[in-house]
Amino acid sequence: MIGIARNSSVLISSIEIRIIEIRIPSFNALRRSSALRNKRPARRILLLVTRRTAVSLLAAAGLHAAARLEIRGMYSSPKPFWDAGLRLPDFGINAIFVHAGSINAAMIERAAAEGARVFAEFPTLNGKGYVEEHPEAWPIDETGARSPAATWFLGACPSDPGFHAHRVKLLEDLLDRHAVAGVWLDYLHWHAQFEDPKPVLPETCFNNACISAFEKSSGVRVAAGETAARARVILSRHERAWRDWRARRLAAWTRDCREIVRRKRPGALTGIFHCPWTDSDFNGARRRTLGLDFDLLARQADVFSPMVYHGRMGRAPAWVGENLAWLGRTLSGKAKIWPIVQAHEVPAAEFETALRLGAASPATGVMMFTAGAVAADPAKREAVRRIYRDA
Ligand SMILES: [Zn+2]
Repeated sequence: MIGIARNSSVLISSIEIRIIEIRIPSFNALRRSSALRNKRPARRILLLVTRRTAVSLLAAAGLHAAARLEIRGMYSSPKPFWDAGLRLPDFGINAIFVHAGSINAAMIERAAAEGARVFAEFPTLNGKGYVEEHPEAWPIDETGARSPAATWFLGACPSDPGFHAHRVKLLEDLLDRHAVAGVWLDYLHWHAQFEDPKPVLPETCFNNACISAFEKSSGVRVAAGETAARARVILSRHERAWRDWRARRLAAWTRDCREIVRRKRPGALTGIFHCPWTDSDFNGARRRTLGLDFDLLARQADVFSPMVYHGRMGRAPAWVGENLAWLGRTLSGKAKIWPIVQAHEVPAAEFETALRLGAASPATGVMMFTAGAVAADPAKREAVRRIYRDA
């Protein structure tokens, strides 16, 4: 459905048309419409032309369907809103993104009753809690040692078959249990830490599973020997092939997860929460170290959700708009952009700027981190209401 808010105005040339209400059904909905079923063909054609004309008028006025914010979201459980006696539609919220382990049937039911869809955040390559019990999946650095936790994050070896099977099972179980509208892959990167002001960017993973998979995929042969010696050969003689393969590995994980999502829940989306760095930030570390190649990922993910946490990354709120403009140019429409902006531990005015920029083109959806930070602050709640209700 294409909908326009009641009483909105469209300015076309010098003529202002005040729209009282337009609800225009899609082509298929028109076909199915019982009101039309018995009409003569001429009447149908007239209605279809009318719809096309209306869409053209709106496009000309810059108010085509994409201009309406498709997703007015928030991240984390809506419980703080509900505990405070607040309702999602009063803030224009129509989507919630919740950690997979926190989703339950009652949450989905109540969200649906309030007009909001539920998307699951899935911790893809988060190794904490797994690698301690399965040390073969612990990321190995270029010295041959286990790479230490990067502040609070610990990754996993993306080539370890046991870890892959473990994650596949968790994803299938999640989708079997809950009718979510989509799955957002989080921690989709090689072991590192980009969310802190000072990034931690180790070289991983040089265990046998990774080196064997690299050899098979790239055709490069790395002589047997100590891990440190093999890592030296790879980084000094085959760096480009290595980094290309690492990027392909993450694209393959995204592809595998999307196949499961589509098989279990046809119509559900696969999105990625990802590091927002440009190609030049931190000397190209987004692709070089984290392994995120946006061209490859755009083929496997429906939606990109850059984690534009301006406060945490020591940037001004205006950076959110600059970063999204860059991402829009980079993706060129190959995937949707629904950023996640920072609401916690920043002043309300900064949050409002970040959310407003996050809600603007090229984004067609937005959410904030976290729901709790917004629920607890009346000024932030009003900022959400202002931006989402006008969107
Ligand atoms: Zn590995």
